[in-house]
Amino acid sequence: MKEISVNRDPAELRQMLDFLGIAAFVIDVVSPDEYRLAAINARHEKHSGMKHDEVAGRSVDDVLSPAMAARVKVSYRRCVKSKTAIDYQETLDLPIGRTYWLTTLVPFFDEAGTVTRLLGTAYEISDQMHLELEARYQSTVMSAYLDESTDGILVVGSNNRIKTWNRRFLEIWNIPQAVMDSRDGDAALQAVVEQVRQPDSFVRRIRELYSSLGEEEQGVRIEMRDGRVLERYSRGLHGPDGSYWGRIWFYRDVTELQRMTERLVHLSQTDPLTGIPNRRVLMQQLEEEYGRARRYGHSLSVLMLDLDHFKQINDCHGHASGDLVLMEFVMVISPEIRASDCFARMGGEEFAILLPQSSLTSARRLAERLCRHVAGLSFTSQQGQFGVTVSIGVATLEDNDTSPEQLLSRADQGLYVAKASGRNRVHTSRDAARPEGAA
Ligand code: GH3
Ligand code: MG
Ligand code: MG
Repeated sequence: MKEISVNRDPAELRQMLDFLGIAAFVIDVVSPDEYRLAAINARHEKHSGMKHDEVAGRSVDDVLSPAMAARVKVSYRRCVKSKTAIDYQETLDLPIGRTYWLTTLVPFFDEAGTVTRLLGTAYEISDQMHLELEARYQSTVMSAYLDESTDGILVVGSNNRIKTWNRRFLEIWNIPQAVMDSRDGDAALQAVVEQVRQPDSFVRRIRELYSSLGEEEQGVRIEMRDGRVLERYSRGLHGPDGSYWGRIWFYRDVTELQRMTERLVHLSQTDPLTGIPNRRVLMQQLEEEYGRARRYGHSLSVLMLDLDHFKQINDCHGHASGDLVLMEFVMVISPEIRASDCFARMGGEEFAILLPQSSLTSARRLAERLCRHVAGLSFTSQQGQFGVTVSIGVATLEDNDTSPEQLLSRADQGLYVAKASGRNRVHTSRDAARPEGAA
């Protein structure tokens, strides 16, 4: 080799280098600052895009960009100075793009022991480097996500050892850092279990998920002793060959969301003026109670109530007084109703009461009592004192009814007759169509 390095001309060198299975080059050391390419082999040409005939005998300063020339010269100088073979990784921006190399330089000496030539062999590691860079990129994205996520995240490995968690996870569960540092999955479970309302089923479910490797869980609600509500998402993690790596857990604090949802549901079901259920609730309950009454053979009755001459009250005493009458009306009726009944404002000055397991007789008795209570109310406005009355239609489920609407419609008819008969009265669907003295 020594003979080769000293005596061979570029063409011969080139032939010899081509026997090597990897990219190779020979550098003539002219001075500590000047290095000339003596030869490059075919593989080098292929990777670098340079041509042996074009670069042989030229200084690296002429062949490479100033920045790259400066970089390679640092390594050449190091090899010349140390007089031993050196390995290093280098990044080369070649015509084919950015490439990564693992390069070895071997020094050759003249009789005086001076390094005159360097043999370089370079093994391209671009593929490995790209993989490594991609992995680094992924982990950078991952740690940014962990840091910024509003979800508490925990990753537990297949051996029940804690692998990763984020700050939010500690906040949500009030777990001391020391517990996580122990990396013991059971210790972490122990630290959280006391905080949930139902620790037994909580632990049972966690164990179940750990043992059913492929199972996913989406948005299961967990009630906490301090009143918070968490939502849990979880899935198993598997390697490319399907082997089990562990499980990732996400915990989301949905307390505020739950509160807002409950509030919206309440608003959508409630009459804003009087605070009692609205028509939608009554219709839904009617549907349910109708089914139940049919299934168990229970009775089911309905009252339809409409305030009399209410337009006059508004006209004489003002809309605000009308509102007060509606509120007072509801306050007088509500205590007379059982918890299982449904008292709803159907709209305007029209109300309905659903009475499960009430016969026509007891529904009528209630209606008459309500009629009397309302007639006994007294109000005062700037225009003076005034009262209010209500007309009520009563109906009960009949054997040949085929829908809840039929029941409602008979109560409506009863109300119509009560109005037509002079108001401030009760009419049931089984009363004669026009009682005596009817208008
Ligand atoms: P009838 O005895 O035949 O039922 O006569 P009425 O005047 O009660 O019936 P009508 O349907 O002619 O008028 C109902 C009135 O109720 C008209 C409407 O302005 C009033 N009203 C509806 N909703 C409200 C409310 O929320 N507040 C007030 N103050 N008035 C309302
Ligand atoms: Mg009315
Ligand atoms: Mg009306």
